[in-house]
Amino acid sequence: MKDFLKELIAREGPLPIDRYMALCLGHPRFGYYMNRDPFGAAGDFTTAPEISQIFGELVGIWCVAAWEAIGSPAPFALVELGPGRGTLMADILRATARAPEFQGALQLHLVEMSPSLRKMQQEKLGVQARWHDTIETLPDEPLIFVANEFFDALPIQQIEKRLAKFFERVVVAQDADLKLAEIPAPVFEFEQDGLHEISPISSIIAEGLGARIAALGGAGLVIDYGHLESGVGDTLQALKAHKSCGILEHPGTSDLTAHVDFARLATAFSSGGADVLPALTQGAFLNSMGLETRVAKLAAQLSGAPLADFIAGARRLVDDKEMGKLFKVLAVAQQNRAALYPFET
Ligand code: SAH
Repeated sequence: MKDFLKELIAREGPLPIDRYMALCLGHPRFGYYMNRDPFGAAGDFTTAPEISQIFGELVGIWCVAAWEAIGSPAPFALVELGPGRGTLMADILRATARAPEFQGALQLHLVEMSPSLRKMQQEKLGVQARWHDTIETLPDEPLIFVANEFFDALPIQQIEKRLAKFFERVVVAQDADLKLAEIPAPVFEFEQDGLHEISPISSIIAEGLGARIAALGGAGLVIDYGHLESGVGDTLQALKAHKSCGILEHPGTSDLTAHVDFARLATAFSSGGADVLPALTQGAFLNSMGLETRVAKLAAQLSGAPLADFIAGARRLVDDKEMGKLFKVLAVAQQNRAALYPFET
């Protein structure tokens, strides 16, 4: 990957951060997600559905309630963006088995770029699903979508505003290494001085989903780590074997993510035509969805170390010092609908 990047830079010049990120994660041969299983203890990072089954179960219950709130359309597309190992969807499908109308009406659509993860999803889900490279090819049907830790993996540009001038952060090749540099950039609408991060591709996807929801009906959840208001600061980070490393250190073999800017995402969903509800923290969302009751019910069947692990996993999802506060849940929906618990009552 490093040699490939150095040659590319020699041929085409400095790589803006979004291009670097897109190549590191999605290059067909060398891209991080394209030929590995990045999750779990043996991988580089873990995610809520991999930590506790309760996460997917509660998201599944939300999906049924949202489907009912938009008038129980049939058929409808149940869409997951970036399904990883397929664990979240497996938990959603198991938890919604007691809603046969919902299950009877759904057609499963997975947006996934990685061939190796598509294979894992196929094996894990063992049900009929259709895979898509982008949201463009989704069917023209009402949709319920979920996206957990999807938007944080989408490329960002880093633009510095300094003394009324703008500079874009780029990757250059220097001697044998990759280095960060900056090049003059066109004018952006930012007011504050400092490093601004924008993700045009995230906005395009959110606007596209918003437009589908407005035209065809639907609702969805974005769950990710990030901030509710746009600001300045460098949030791009690399993870390898559960430890943070430099973003240029292990291109193609470390995960790269950035904080999701929920304010910009919300704007994009609304400009597509969807209604955006005030976001909740992951802790508040899961607690309102009945986490404690579900924990108590499952805990009654466990003892010893499995019980302790199970309780610890559930706590990790909602604890303020763990994922409870840093992770946010944004709901979007068609305008015409019943109230969407727990975002509105
Ligand atoms: N939702 C899962 C996995 C999160 S990791 C979980 O919570 O465990 C990010 C996922 O998004 C991976 O499946 C990755 O392959 C996929 N992905 C990343 N960028 C993508 C893109 N541009 N298009 C489609 N899928 C993408």
